[in-house]
Order: sequence, then C-alpha cells, then structure tokens
Amino acid sequence: MIVGIPKEIKNNEFRVAMTPAGVAELVKNNHKVVVETQAGVGSGFADEDYVSAGAEILPTAEAVFSTAKMIVKVKEPQAIERARLNKEHTLFTYLHLAPDPEQTADLVNSEATCIAYETVTDDLGRLPLLAPMSEVAGRMSIQAGAYALEKSRAGRGMLLGGVPGVSPAKVVVIGGGVVGRNAAQMAVGMGADVTVLDRSIDVLRAIDAEFNGRVKTVFSTALALEEQVLAADLVVGSVLVPGAAAPKLVTKEMVSRMKAGAAVVDVAIDQGGCFETAKATTHAEPTYIVDDVVHYCVANMPGAVARTSTYALSNATLPYIIKLANMGAEDALKADKHLLEGLNVRHGKVTCQSVAEELGYDF
Ligand code: NAD
Repeated sequence: MIVGIPKEIKNNEFRVAMTPAGVAELVKNNHKVVVETQAGVGSGFADEDYVSAGAEILPTAEAVFSTAKMIVKVKEPQAIERARLNKEHTLFTYLHLAPDPEQTADLVNSEATCIAYETVTDDLGRLPLLAPMSEVAGRMSIQAGAYALEKSRAGRGMLLGGVPGVSPAKVVVIGGGVVGRNAAQMAVGMGADVTVLDRSIDVLRAIDAEFNGRVKTVFSTALALEEQVLAADLVVGSVLVPGAAAPKLVTKEMVSRMKAGAAVVDVAIDQGGCFETAKATTHAEPTYIVDDVVHYCVANMPGAVARTSTYALSNATLPYIIKLANMGAEDALKADKHLLEGLNVRHGKVTCQSVAEELGYDF
C-alpha cells in the first residue's frame, strides 16, 4: 500500500504522524511511504531522515493525497485537507467528530474510510491511542505547575521539593487516571508532598500499591475535595467522565479561598475543565490569575513538547498502521474489533454511534 504523511497544518501543531523509524517499519513490510516536504521539521526530523528510512518526499500536500491510499495524520483534517479526500482513501488520525458537524459532513461526503485514534479500544476497554497524550500532559502538568508557582508568574514562590529544612509544596491531583498517575509520578520525583483524589476505590488502591505509600490517596467527596484544595499549593485537575463535559468540581468560591499565589493546572480543560474559573489558554499565553491563584489551562499541552509527543503517538499508532497497510482497511477492520471501534465514517455513513446520536445521523 502507499501510505501518505502530510505536514500538519492546524495552527501551532508541530507534531507529525510518523517518525522515520515508523516509516522504516512500513518499508520493511513492503509498503511505499510518501512524506510531504518539511512534514517532520517541527518534531526535529529533516526530509533526509525520512529518505534514509526509505520514504519518498513529495513537494505538496496535494501530491501526498493524490498518491497515497492511506493518509496518516495527527490532528483532524482541516477543510482544505477534507476537500482532497475521496472514497479510495483510508484516513487514520484524531477526529473528535461529536462537537464538529462541519467536519463530519465533509467526511461523509468524501466517502472515505475514516478511523479515529480516540475511539480505538483495547481488551481492557481503555483507549490506547489517547493514552500517550494523557501521559505527556500528566507529566507536563507538574512542570507547568512548578513554573506557575514561581514569583515571575505571580505564584507563591515555592519550590516543589523544598530543600533540607524547608517543607515541600503540597500537590493535590484530582482524578487518578492516566493523567493523574503521571502527574503524581513527576511530583513525587520532584520531592513534593502528593495527594491524589479519585471517586474509584480501585483506582486509589492501584495508586497506593504503585507508589508504595509515597502518595496519599483520598476518596473524592465534595467535602474532602474542598479540604484538600484549600490546603494545596498546586492543584492538578485531571478528571474524566467519558463522553461528558468535565464536572466543575472546584467552584469559584473555593478558588477565592485558596492560598494566595497557589497554582492550578486544569488538564481537563479540553473537556471544559474541572475548575469553575478555568478558561482555555494557549502556549503563547498559558497562565492568568483569578483571586490571586495562577491558572494554567492549555488545551493542547502535548503540542509544546512536539518531539516527545510525536514519538509517543507514533509508538502507539504504528502497530495499527502496519495492520491496516498489510491487510487493507476492509480486512483489518473485519479482523480487529478494537480497530473497528475506531471507525467513525465509512462509505458516506457515520459508523460511530455516539457521533451519529450527537449529530443526528442514521446509525
Ligand atoms: P482517565 O479516564 O484515565 O482518568 C480520569 C479519572 O477521573 C478516572 O480515574 C475517574 O475515576 C476520575 N474521576 C471522574 N470523576 C471524578 C470525580 N468527581 N472526582 C475524582 N475523580 C474523578 O482520563 P485521562 O486520560 O487521565 O484524562 C484526564 C483528562 O485530561 C481528560 O479530560 C482528558 O481529555 C484530558 N487531557 C487533556 C490534555 C491537554 O492537553 N489539556 C491532554 C491529554 C488529556
């Protein structure tokens, strides 16, 4: 199969769908890979790196779309990219169609086979192609929070780990899923005093075992959450209720009673945020202040560490890309029920129930 990697064109997107190492794997499986010139430059990969891996560099996105049968991307296709899709194409990328009727209509009209990373599942019901970005965001949340606590950002002027003779900062993580566990791991590594809240006892048990008592766990009730948030120097918001907007667990009133100069990192901002005071920010201007509390609410945190994120995403997607290329989309989808869960649009029809229900398509 001919697999195409266009350069990402969404604003401020520096990731690329495949690393040169991934390209080499496809070539080893007897596939041809065409890469748009400069596609990898934002993640530190030159055209020559792809050529060395066996890819052919094409001068334009049009050339990639018209040459390749499978298009592999990172972000949802933009309008100009959607116009290039036809029924011969298989598209494999993040789509997030439910809140995007315009994109959905274009993909339906293209008649292409569109598989979304974010709805591919695994045997345990997890979302293996979403997890790598949650790992990145979780780890980054502590880096961002540590910076927000510095005086230059209007923070309390506290070092997360303290120093001998000076107490560490108190870090409270709300939600002990993929983001929360990775946040806790970084915060522990930096020597902070870490507490994770979750409403699942099993999640708290797993964290207790994983960190061998180095992380405190608290069952998440309204009262417990308020007590923890008011005592915190840094709060990371990392809850997820699948398919729903994030619950507003920290009210404006609670924020007004937090310590002056405390920081919040609302990772769940891409689902609306779990702080009532959260509004999405960008990497260009990541923080703002409400009631003396520094807020960091960047909706696409992994974009800031494009190289790490590209490797993490590509590691997770590569086995599926190889399967799709080796078997062809039709047979690969028949053979793998988890990949089939990723199928969102096919032959002019919406094939994902939640997207169809949300946007009023027949299913
Ligand atoms: P996850 O499903 O692995 O974990 C979510 C956890 O929240 C679960 O353990 C769940 O039990 C817990 N939870 C739900 N309601 C709760 C409550 N009331 N109190 C305490 N805990 C509660 O999800 P994840 O992969 O860790 O993602 C977390 C959030 O981070 C999501 O909103 C996701 O979209 C977001 N995210 C944002 C970025 C970004 O760049 N901003 C990047 C990746 C992920």
